[in-house]
Amino acid sequence: MDDIWLILEKDMTSQIKLMARASSLVIETAKSLGSKAICVVLGSNLSSDECYRFANKEGYDSVLLIDNPYLTNYCADHYIFTLLQLLRDYHPSVIIFPSHPHFQEVAAQVAEQLQAPCALNYDNIRISKDRGIILEKVITRRQEQISVAVDSTSHPVVIVLGKDIGGPNYSVISKVPLVKSLAVELNGYLVHSRFVGVEKMDIESIDLSEAEIIVAGGGGVNTPEGWSLIQVLAGELGAKIAGSRAAFMRNFITENQIVGISGKVVSPRLYIAIGISGCNEHLIGMRTSESIICVNKEKSAPIFRYAQLGIVADLYFFLPRLIKSLQELKDNSNRDRKDNAKDIH
Ligand SMILES: Cc1cc2nc3c(=O)[nH]c(=O)nc-3n(C[C@H](O)[C@H](O)[C@H](O)COP(=O)(O)OP(=O)(O)OC[C@H]3O[C@@H](n4cnc5c(N)ncnc54)[C@H](O)[C@@H]3O)c2cc1C
Repeated sequence: MDDIWLILEKDMTSQIKLMARASSLVIETAKSLGSKAICVVLGSNLSSDECYRFANKEGYDSVLLIDNPYLTNYCADHYIFTLLQLLRDYHPSVIIFPSHPHFQEVAAQVAEQLQAPCALNYDNIRISKDRGIILEKVITRRQEQISVAVDSTSHPVVIVLGKDIGGPNYSVISKVPLVKSLAVELNGYLVHSRFVGVEKMDIESIDLSEAEIIVAGGGGVNTPEGWSLIQVLAGELGAKIAGSRAAFMRNFITENQIVGISGKVVSPRLYIAIGISGCNEHLIGMRTSESIICVNKEKSAPIFRYAQLGIVADLYFFLPRLIKSLQELKDNSNRDRKDNAKDIH
């Protein structure tokens, strides 16, 4: 069986936590298929020492470094041309990308050019004796696990991993990887786009579609004091803030943070709707959330029909108590952790 590739950007080799699960899937898959596990790092001014250390620690057989000034910043064209050039000379059977917004478009376009199967957001890869490569993903809100078998005999299989990659924990066996630098040709004649710039964005306007937890406020949050409760709650939960159009009309959120038919469609693990009635225009944007909790003082509010947990309460009464309980929980668990650390010493 041909090699299994994991594609990385320069900075990813230092993102130990992010990479550990991806590496474990790549290496387990390679082992089951009797293939070599190879990581391919794209970037400029790559440190071969750092890449070597990463590949050595994670247990890759080799690492291919593609160092080119055009790869300093992400530009889909550049990544796609780079990979297509490599794939003229190399023939991996599986190309795996870690979960990252960049990689969705790169993977899809590389697969299209190769006329290869492309699977997005799969959390597990396993090898079945009869069916070959099986990809799995769990749709929690539907309590379903989807499995697909893909054929890698005539084309490479292109896979983008999901955020919740699973699979068995593997014991890392470090290897002495082969490090190889490869040149690719990228210039203005070949690529049709160029990097223009990166702007720092207000944290609250960062893509809500990526958020795991969203705290959203609505027309019921009608004072700045009420809105600061939303902000404190979001801070305690590490959540992003959003709202209904009513919150936007009160200037509590930007247009980017409106959820609904004329705003964002979001699907977080948890959507907490506070003082939101649940009219259709809003529901369209959030009803596919895995879990919905709502707080509303009117028990007839339509939002209750969509929530797994509905709290009939005045937000000005309920939120300060909820926040206090969360803070106490956090303090207690910090204290326990400190006590445990003392016991160990
Ligand atoms: C073309 C068009 C497009 C639209 N697009 C969108 C869209 O994309 N997204 C969107 O959200 N809206 C959209 N709207 C607006 C939408 O129709 C509603 O007006 C809006 O969603 C209402 O927001 P709300 O439920 O937060 O506020 P309200 O309708 O004002 O409801 C407030 C809720 O808070 C509760 N409440 C009040 N006080 C308290 C309290 N102290 N404690 C607890 N609960 C309290 C009330 O019982 C009520 O249920 C659109 C409208 C149009 C016409």
